[in-house]
Amino acid sequence: MQNDPMTTPELKTIATRLWVRQAVDNISWFDLGDGAAIVDTGEAHSGLAEDVEEMLEETLGETPLKYLLNTHTHYDHTGLNDRLKQQYGLAVINGRDERLAGGDDLTLGGPGRTARMFHTGGVHTAEDCCIHLPEDSVLFVGDLFGWGLVPVNGHLVCEKADRIVDIYNDLIALDAATVIPGHGPNCSTAELERWLEYFRWLSKGTVVGVQQGLTDEDIARQLPPPEDMTDWWRLVDWKHKNSVGKVLELARSGWGGLAK
Ligand SMILES: [Zn+2]
Repeated sequence: MQNDPMTTPELKTIATRLWVRQAVDNISWFDLGDGAAIVDTGEAHSGLAEDVEEMLEETLGETPLKYLLNTHTHYDHTGLNDRLKQQYGLAVINGRDERLAGGDDLTLGGPGRTARMFHTGGVHTAEDCCIHLPEDSVLFVGDLFGWGLVPVNGHLVCEKADRIVDIYNDLIALDAATVIPGHGPNCSTAELERWLEYFRWLSKGTVVGVQQGLTDEDIARQLPPPEDMTDWWRLVDWKHKNSVGKVLELARSGWGGLAK
């Protein structure tokens, strides 16, 4: 990635009245026609609230902000929740919502567009949610896509590995033209597909390496960062190594590989 979005946050228009403040932590918002929704609010740091409020007011004009959707409730996605809730009187919706946690989708509809929020819990956190805007072919995936990262916190266990595959297949089936991750540059369904292939490659490579009695170093050497992924945001810096480590740890526990 030549332009690391870390350096300067950038306001991007993704579709008609749909914007992303792209940075290490992405904050997005869109107009439903009779009110707007914001997706995630970053990690609080000085000046962020003022910067975001200025952008919201500049872009939305008179359109009221109605909803605050969180892909999950980690601190780096909820930093401005309290402030924005207070400022604009927003309804906060996340995966703890009974409807979402119970497996129902939540559709926010307006005259301008519809947004479907659905539960994808059990990978990054128990309460992960994604948001699909079908008319725009845009999908917000939170931290389920991390430009090469295996999206689990802590240890990868076999149930989670299989859950990743199921969730990725569901997300890929939506065939979104624009995929907005929680952090870093936007991508598309092609990167979701490529990452799933990468995850399968790591799973197979580590399991086979363990069965052959290879050392961790030998296994890692057999699984270098794929050439077509070397420009993925921060992949070569540290993400690939982290992902190999997570999958290898699972392979060392006697895991037989992905179920499907
Ligand atoms: Zn995050």
